[in-house]
Amino acid sequence: MNRLRELDIKFLKGIGPKRAELLSKQLGIKTYRDLLFHFPTRYLDRSSFYSISQFEEGMPHMQVKGRFIAMSVQGEGAKTRLVGVFTDGRTTMEVVWFKRIKQIKESYHTGNEYILFGKPEPFNNRWSMVHPEIDTPQSITAQQGMRGVYPLTETLRNQGIASRQIYTWIQSILSSSTDIRETLTDEIVKRLRLMPLREALVNIHNPGSVEKLNAARTRLKFEELFYLQLNILRYSRQRTSQLPGFRFPRIGEYFNRFYSEQLPFELTGAQKRVIKEIRADMTTGRQMNRLLQGDVGSGKTLVALLCMLIALDNSTQACLMAPTEILATQHYETLSKLASAIGVNIKLLTGSTRKKERDMIHSQLEDGSLHILIGTHAVIEDNVRFKNLGFVVIDEQHRFGVAQRARLWHKNSTPPHVLVMTATPIPRTLAMTVYGDLSVSVIDELPPGRKPVTTLLRYDTSRMSVYQGIGKELKAGRQAYIVYPLIKENEKLDLRCLEEGYELIRETFPQYKVCYVHGKMKPSEKEHQMSLFVSGEARILVATTVIEVGVNVPNATVMLIENAERFGLSQLHQLRGRVGRGSDRSYCILMSHEKIAKDTRKRLEIMTSTTDGFVIAEADMKMRGPGDIEGTMQSGIPFELHIANLATDGQLVQLARDTATEILDADPTLSAPQHRLLLRELSTSSNTTIDWSRIS
Ligand code: ADP
Ligand code: MG
Repeated sequence: MNRLRELDIKFLKGIGPKRAELLSKQLGIKTYRDLLFHFPTRYLDRSSFYSISQFEEGMPHMQVKGRFIAMSVQGEGAKTRLVGVFTDGRTTMEVVWFKRIKQIKESYHTGNEYILFGKPEPFNNRWSMVHPEIDTPQSITAQQGMRGVYPLTETLRNQGIASRQIYTWIQSILSSSTDIRETLTDEIVKRLRLMPLREALVNIHNPGSVEKLNAARTRLKFEELFYLQLNILRYSRQRTSQLPGFRFPRIGEYFNRFYSEQLPFELTGAQKRVIKEIRADMTTGRQMNRLLQGDVGSGKTLVALLCMLIALDNSTQACLMAPTEILATQHYETLSKLASAIGVNIKLLTGSTRKKERDMIHSQLEDGSLHILIGTHAVIEDNVRFKNLGFVVIDEQHRFGVAQRARLWHKNSTPPHVLVMTATPIPRTLAMTVYGDLSVSVIDELPPGRKPVTTLLRYDTSRMSVYQGIGKELKAGRQAYIVYPLIKENEKLDLRCLEEGYELIRETFPQYKVCYVHGKMKPSEKEHQMSLFVSGEARILVATTVIEVGVNVPNATVMLIENAERFGLSQLHQLRGRVGRGSDRSYCILMSHEKIAKDTRKRLEIMTSTTDGFVIAEADMKMRGPGDIEGTMQSGIPFELHIANLATDGQLVQLARDTATEILDADPTLSAPQHRLLLRELSTSSNTTIDWSRIS
C-alpha cells in the first residue's frame, strides 16, 4: 500500500497532469491510493429493464430500452436545449439535454435502439429524463449488475469527467497493482471475520453480489473507525499518564452540611449515580475531563454545586462558566441562595461587573477567601488569578470554543478537574468519538412530578384557535414564550419576524405586558427585558432563539414556535425545554407552513411524539448526518470519515473501540512485532494530526 500512496495519479493512463490537478483540487485525490479509496456513494441496478408505464415519483435511476422518434433543438440562448421523444414501444417520454447539445445530436439518431439510464421526473403530465446515460445494446453487456456512482463535483462534470470514467481508472489500478497490502493485523482480520483489504477494494468498486458488497463496506468502515479509535485512545492514555491532577479524598463540612441542611429535595437516582462517577474520578490523582449530559431540566446545576463543594472541602476553589450573562446571573442567583447559608462565598463576574466589585473579586480570588466564582468568559481573562483552582464547571459547553476551554487549564500549575455540562444530548457513539477522550456521564431521569410537555403541530390556518389556547393559559395566571426565527423582516425569506410579531402579540393580548429579547440587543437591555419576564411582570416573552439555553421560569407553561419547520430538531428540543419546568401541564405549539416537505413533516412529528432528548438526537443525526448536529458544529468534528457513518454505524464504532482498547491494554506502545503494521498505518493516517488532548 505504501507505494500506492506515493504514486501520483498523473501517471495513470488517461489522466495526465491537467486532469490530475483538477482531481486534486476538486476531490483531494492525489495518489493511486486516494483514488482507490474514493468509494461510490450508491449503486445503480443495471440488471433489469423497466417500461415507462412502471415509473413512479421518487424512483431512483431506471433503465429503459427503446428508440427516439424525434429530436429537436428548442429555446434560445441560455435556454437552448435538445429535446428527444423516446418510446419503449408503448409509452413515450421526453429526454432533455442542456449541455453538449451538438455532440449528442451527432452521436444519437432516431430509429436506432438505445438503452437509457436516468432518473424519471414528472414534467407537464409526462415523464422525462434529463441527461441520461445512453448505451447501445452492444455496449451495455460488460456493465450489467450493480454499478457504483462516484461522488463528483459540478466542475468535474463540466470537464467531462463522469462516474464511469472514475470507475475505469480505478479498475486499471486494481488490475495492475500487485502490492495492495493488508492494513489490519492477521489476528484482527481472522477473529472478526473481515474481508481482506484487496478483496474489499475489488468489491466496493465492482460488487460481485450484494453480500460481497456489504462485507466489503463493513471491512472498510471498520478499518476507518478502528484507526480513529486507536488514535484517540493512544492520545488520551498518553495524556492521563502524564497529567497529574488534584486528589480530593475528603467529603467534608461543606458537602455534608449542605446535604443535610440545604438540599431542597431528594436527589434522583441518576443524579446520585453521576455524582458518584465524578467523585471516583476526583480521587484518582489524575485530572478529570468529564462530559455531563442531561436533558433540559434534569437537574445538572445541583450536581455541579455538590461537586464544587467537594472541591472546597479539599481546600481548593471552584469556578462555573456559562455562555451568556443571563445564564451566569441565573446560576449565581440559584447557587448563592442554596449555598450562602453554609458560609460559602460566591461571586458573579461578567463583562458588566463594575470595577470596584471586580477588584474585590480579583483580590478575594487571590487570597483564597472567594470560594466559588460564577461568570461568563470574563472568568478566563488573564488578570483573573486563583489561589488554588481545583474544579471547573462549564455549562452548555457547545457555546465555547475549544481554545477558550483550554485557557482554563492553565490557571493552575496543577490543572483543575473539568466538568463540561451539556443539555444537547449527543448519541453515545458520536460523543465517544467527537469528544475523544472525555468520559461521559448521563443523567437519564427527570426529577419526579414533571409532566411531559404536550407538543402540537399547527398550521397558520388555525392561528386564531392557537391564540385562544394561549389566552386561556394567560388568564389562569401563566406566562408564555413566543419564538421567531428572525428579528427583522427579510425580503428573501418568507418567515415571520420578531418585530412584526411583537406588534401583533401586543394587539392580540392588550391586557398583558409583553417583553422581548433578541441577539442584537445590548446586554443591559436584554437583562432588563428578561428580568421583566422572570419577575412575572411581563406575561409574554417574544424572543428569538437566544432564550434557548438555561432560562428558568417555572410559571411559563406555553411556548409557541413560529416557522418551526425552519429549526433543527435539537434546537426545537432545547427551546421546548423552557416550558414544563413547574408542576403544571405545559404546551409547546409548533407553528408551520401548511406546505412543507415530507421530511420536514416527519421531523416535526418526531417532536410531537417524544420528549426524550436522546431519541431526538439520534433521529436528528440520522436525518441530517453527524456533521450537522448542533453542538458538534461549533466545536467542529475534527476529522473526516470517508465511508463510516457515526450516525448509522454505532455497532461498528463500539467494535472498533473495543478492539483498539484490547490492543492498547496488551501493548500500550504498539511495539510488539505483530503491531508494527498498526503503528505504520497510524503514522500515515490523516487523522493523526489532530491534538486530541485539546478536544475537551
Ligand atoms: P438543567 O439540567 O436543565 O440545568 P436544572 O439544574 O436547572 O436543570 O434543574 C431544573 C429544575 O429542577 C430546577 O428548578 C431544580 O431546582 C429542579 N431539580 C433539580 N434536581 C431536582 C430533584 N432531585 N428533585 C426535584 N427537583 C429538582
Ligand atoms: Mg442548566
